[in-house]
Amino acid sequence: MIRSGSHYLDALDDGREIWLDGERVKGVSSHPAFRGTAASIAGLYDLAHGSDHSSVLTSDGVHRAYTVPRTHADLVARRQAYKVWAEASYGFLGRTPDYMASGAAGFAALPQLFTTDTFDGSDNVLAFHRRLAENDLYCAFTITNPRPRPGGDDPVVRVVAERDGGIVVRGAKTIGSGAVFADEVLVGTIEPLAPDDVEHALCFSLPVDTPGLKLISRTSYEGRARGVFDNPLSSRFDENDAMLVCDDVFVPWERVLTYRNVAATAGMWWRTPAYLNFVHQAATRFWTKLEFLTGVAILLTRDNGTHELPAVTQSVGRLLGMVAQAKAFVLAAEASYEEVDGGCGGVAPGTEISFAQRIMAGELYPRAIQEIKGLAGGAIIQLPASGEDLRHPELGPLMEPYLNSPESTAEERVKLLKLAWDALGSEFASRHEQYERFYHGAPHVYLMMQHGAGGAADCERLARACLDGYDLTGPGRAPGVGTAGGAGGGRRR
Ligand SMILES: Cc1cc2nc3c(=O)[nH]c(=O)nc-3n(C[C@H](O)[C@H](O)[C@H](O)COP(=O)(O)OP(=O)(O)OC[C@H]3O[C@@H](n4cnc5c(N)ncnc54)[C@H](O)[C@@H]3O)c2cc1C
Repeated sequence: MIRSGSHYLDALDDGREIWLDGERVKGVSSHPAFRGTAASIAGLYDLAHGSDHSSVLTSDGVHRAYTVPRTHADLVARRQAYKVWAEASYGFLGRTPDYMASGAAGFAALPQLFTTDTFDGSDNVLAFHRRLAENDLYCAFTITNPRPRPGGDDPVVRVVAERDGGIVVRGAKTIGSGAVFADEVLVGTIEPLAPDDVEHALCFSLPVDTPGLKLISRTSYEGRARGVFDNPLSSRFDENDAMLVCDDVFVPWERVLTYRNVAATAGMWWRTPAYLNFVHQAATRFWTKLEFLTGVAILLTRDNGTHELPAVTQSVGRLLGMVAQAKAFVLAAEASYEEVDGGCGGVAPGTEISFAQRIMAGELYPRAIQEIKGLAGGAIIQLPASGEDLRHPELGPLMEPYLNSPESTAEERVKLLKLAWDALGSEFASRHEQYERFYHGAPHVYLMMQHGAGGAADCERLARACLDGYDLTGPGRAPGVGTAGGAGGGRRR
């Protein structure tokens, strides 16, 4: 079933326990802190449900992100689907439903990983994938742990009782992006666990309205937005990040994916293609976001009347180079696809390039923002608090002559500059910079992983081939010999 937007919105208003500013939220779809974003997510479902994009977004009655790719062409088709949804939020909704959908397809490609000597979650993981796909559900995930305080209670989600039919869990996970808008939330751990830390080696997925499951929302930028004209992004694409607390939550066995098994709890991300699928979706969104931001930069330079200056053209050229880099990582990960171990016939985007995308994107995004801020200048600050001021009988005519530009009317210019501020300088924009730097994980972890992802031996071999080609007695062989494998001829003595 492909859901419509209204079907999605109706399901949101269940008994879920969401807290914002000390108050329990009643009705996410109509609450001023969430309704604009909920409507944007509903818009995504409508794109898949019945629009010209349906055939790109869906295949055999499910969203393409749920299918297990088997060929390079399947990867390309998935990326085309990711791109349609990414463009619908200009890349600002990071955790659209296709994100976890792609992860679920990754788990389903290797269900045998979930069969362990402590628990057999293989049927449950296939049922999880089927349930999400067939009902077109939105699943968020919380896999980052709070820090324990020495001598204090364990703050991390763990099992406090086993009962007939399931387990009772208590504790927290730090950030669940999009969780307040989701149908289900997957609770697990991606951080490395000590080999004997079976207490925290646990993964399950529950409906967001499960009794005892609480989501404590951060400040809502949407709630602070004045409206679409003044805050065009934060009023509509604030996916929110909430802390998840499990206050003695009952989890039926059929909802448990891993239990008391460190290898499976980590391996579900790293040995199945789930994480590589995540990066494929995220890298497509990142590329789209850079396209959008570069477009904003070009419009700013036109409006500022600077677009023909050589230095400005170079700066825009630098941004376009960044867009091309972001695109190249997506295409290269697809082209370097790998077969999934385990004989299921599935493929996944290449590990080396996918892992490198995390480094590139986290480092590139702040540079891109700085570059665009440099092009924007002070204009993004010199704005009336509200666009409505332009309609004020006294203020409007007073400001108008000072807000015009050679390219646009006062209203057009204020509209563009407010969009730019929301994307580059607002609290929402600052959250996005932190998101692009950290949502993939902590740099000290993924930089170490890159080291293990391959490539080091080839680099070392090439440098070694150069060194081996000469010594104090003179050049031993022509440059280039021995670079393909380092097995060049003997050195002359
Ligand atoms: C906007 C946003 C949205 C997010 N959404 C989600 C979500 O939906 N679900 C989810 O599960 N998680 C989410 N995260 C969490 C994200 O996965 C983590 O922030 C990330 O894994 C880093 O973990 P941490 O924040 O605990 O950082 P820490 O581990 O506290 O690290 C902080 C800094 O210190 C460095 N550091 C720490 N230890 C070392 C060391 N030993 N050596 C060298 N450097 C070190 C790190 O590299 C990092 O730069 C989100 C994060 C952000 C910012």
